[in-house]
Amino acid sequence: MAEYDYDLFTIGAGSGGVRASRISASYGARVAVAEERYLGGTCVNVGCVPKKLLVYASHFAEDFEDAQGFGWNVGAPDFDWSKLIANKNTEISRLNGIYQRMLDNAGVTVFDGTARVVDPHCVSVNGKTYSAKYILVATGGWPVVPDIPGKEHAVTSNEAFFLDKLPERVVVVGGGYIAVEFAGIFNGLGSRVTQLYRGPQFLRGFDDDVRVFLAGEMRKKGVDLQFNANIARIERNGDVLLAELEDGGEIETDLIMYATGRAPNARGIGLEEAGVALDAKGAVMVDDYFKTSVESIYAIGDVIDRVALTPVAIAEGMVLAGNLFKNESRMADYEDIPTAVFCQPNIGTVGLTEVQARAKYGALDVYTSSFKPMKHTLTGGDEKTFMKLIVDRASDRVVGFHMVGPDAGEMTQGIGVAIKCGATKAQFDATIGIHPTAAEEFVTMREKVPDDAVRDAAD
Ligand code: FAD
Ligand code: NDP
Repeated sequence: MAEYDYDLFTIGAGSGGVRASRISASYGARVAVAEERYLGGTCVNVGCVPKKLLVYASHFAEDFEDAQGFGWNVGAPDFDWSKLIANKNTEISRLNGIYQRMLDNAGVTVFDGTARVVDPHCVSVNGKTYSAKYILVATGGWPVVPDIPGKEHAVTSNEAFFLDKLPERVVVVGGGYIAVEFAGIFNGLGSRVTQLYRGPQFLRGFDDDVRVFLAGEMRKKGVDLQFNANIARIERNGDVLLAELEDGGEIETDLIMYATGRAPNARGIGLEEAGVALDAKGAVMVDDYFKTSVESIYAIGDVIDRVALTPVAIAEGMVLAGNLFKNESRMADYEDIPTAVFCQPNIGTVGLTEVQARAKYGALDVYTSSFKPMKHTLTGGDEKTFMKLIVDRASDRVVGFHMVGPDAGEMTQGIGVAIKCGATKAQFDATIGIHPTAAEEFVTMREKVPDDAVRDAAD
């Protein structure tokens, strides 16, 4: 008889947990996964997927306007929020079913319930305890709302996906991925949007030119973007909310959405009692191979608070499955992770910001370009696109790529391969452009930003 009920017991069937479970099972391991809320986790249910669907929905308003410059009379468009949410929910249910079948077909046992670590080899779920050679914690994260008076009147992205109606006025608090994406969604759908960010420039960690450029484009589209602004307290008056700002100002609104970061889901599930160390932010601490301070317990994904992106959680799950059940000894590769922010226009980025590149390489060649996309020659629209390449002068390698513009995510994925391969600027230049596209700009940038004009920006 086997020593344990399972070789691997995974807690959390999100991006990382599902992949690690499925691949481990394909290597012959006996695997169980417990999920308390929704198969597919944050990404499928209240993250990447529904977010991208809402981004698509919100862009139609501009598309209808733009169409007129191309001869289309589209009449007055009419938008039905309830229909959008219902259609989105149907699609998410379909995906939940796909995840269930995927796990079933892989031979993974799925438990529907909240799991707790009982000891280094045991997990309890639905009143029963199961033993496992290894336990994997893949419990993700949860939105954090700062502790201010009236915080109970605010929502987070979790609730924003299920609102009964589209609010006429929205205040979005925060200056990260989720805040800029939702500011764009609500603005595109017709809400009057105010976005408040506590510092002087949002999107900390992104290239400074990108941050400045996006702020300009969002303002042109009508978002009331306020920096150095934060809410001190919230009051409710019937259906109306009053946000009192730290500087004494007030904003009346119908919805306040906080997008002020996410905290790891690591407390209250028996980890600390079992001896698993958490860091100051409450994230599970792991070594290079995702092992926690307990020999038999591993953790991946948002709960370890390294890079909170779905493809990263998946990559971590792949590495772990190979290490545990295929005799591999690999570490995850966090170099040059491409990423996109689905704000409007999109941001795409891979490699280093200019500030990071200067600190690492010293002398750089920087190329930038900003232009009106061809489509807008007929629409009258004033949206502009921005592109930037950062080149290490000594090796000629392109070490940073940044873009703000339509489909930036799509373009960045391809450029990400080139950068991962160590492409040089000369190789970019030797690549024939595709005409007429915006992307061809990346292989035709020849004018360096003069050294004395390169900003000595600091974060
Ligand atoms: P999760 O996907 O969060 O899965 C954890 C699972 O564990 C959850 O299903 C949870 O219910 C379950 N769980 C927790 N505790 C227990 C327990 N005790 N017992 C049983 N089950 C438990 N990333 C991108 O790459 N691109 C995007 O466009 C993108 N957009 C996003 C938009 C939003 C609004 C948000 C919030 C996130 C977005 N992300 C995006 C980030 C991405 O969703 C996460 O990085 C990813 O889901 C992390 O995967 P994970 O497996 O670590 O955790
Ligand atoms: P982020 O950490 O990206 O941003 C949080 C924002 O809230 C920052 O601007 C931060 O400011 C601000 N903030 C933090 N605390 C406070 C506070 N007390 N008062 C006011 N403002 C505050 O978190 P998100 O919630 O936007 O997203 C979580 C993660 O999910 C992202 O980092 C990303 O990894 C992932 N994600 C990825 C997406 C994609 O790939 N397209 C989309 C959505 C999410 P400051 O900078 O000053 O600290």
